[in-house]
Amino acid sequence: MIHDARMVVGFTGAGISTESGIPDFRSPGSPWLSNKPISFELFLRSIEARREAWRRKFVMDDLYRGARPSQGHLGMAALVASGRMPAVITQNIDGLHQASGLSDEQVIELHGNGTFARCLSCGRRHELDWIRSRFEASGDPPACVQCGGVLKSATISFGQSMPEEAMRRARTAMARCDLCLVVGSSLVVYPAAAFPAFAKENGARLVIVNREPTPLDDEADLVIRAEIGPILSVFLS
Ligand code: NAD
Repeated sequence: MIHDARMVVGFTGAGISTESGIPDFRSPGSPWLSNKPISFELFLRSIEARREAWRRKFVMDDLYRGARPSQGHLGMAALVASGRMPAVITQNIDGLHQASGLSDEQVIELHGNGTFARCLSCGRRHELDWIRSRFEASGDPPACVQCGGVLKSATISFGQSMPEEAMRRARTAMARCDLCLVVGSSLVVYPAAAFPAFAKENGARLVIVNREPTPLDDEADLVIRAEIGPILSVFLS
């Protein structure tokens, strides 16, 4: 199907990073479900919520600091390098597609990126190490160096609007592709999960690689219910 395709677009979820050592969201024992999420509204309203968000963030960062791209990420990067797949749309926030060699133009991040922070007022980028050293020294997260605004990890929180530019790019890519390759997503988190169905409605073939069933399996042209690494590593040879 990939050889027959004019344009492949990838769509990845947390499952592609489990072989890098980062647990997915829904599988049993998930650390992401052990705390009640801090909504965007609460983050804005409460300094204590912001302190708690940064405490949690740095604990998670310490756990997954050494994560490296999996065979799945490398397989997707090989497909991009082959010229068959111009972009990967991802729900992931771990930056591992970029670490596998893809440029920011080749990765469309629907839920942002947790490897740096931005000012919520002026958008200026801030590095996490800088924020962490000040937070640990004073007990309070620092303000934006440019405008004094609130800094937040550059991810999309519950209740925060989806990033317009990424949503526009994802819609265009899904409308143009004739093969959508979904890897490691339960396809239940909306609006992101609507994109593969949108591609299918627009005439693309749909392939799903996931170890568990998804709500879109019945619509798919091919479902590969297996571990991601061994499947995607075929693109490495
Ligand atoms: P999900 O946890 O809902 O689904 C992941 C799917 O991948 C599951 O169905 C699981 O069975 C499957 N899976 C896991 N490891 C696999 C493997 N090695 N081989 C085959 N299948 C495997 O993830 P989602 O659909 O991406 O939605 C969860 C949300 O959580 C997303 O919004 C995402 O941003 C966020 N999240 C991101 C990360 C990350 O960046 N690495 C980690 C956890 C959660």
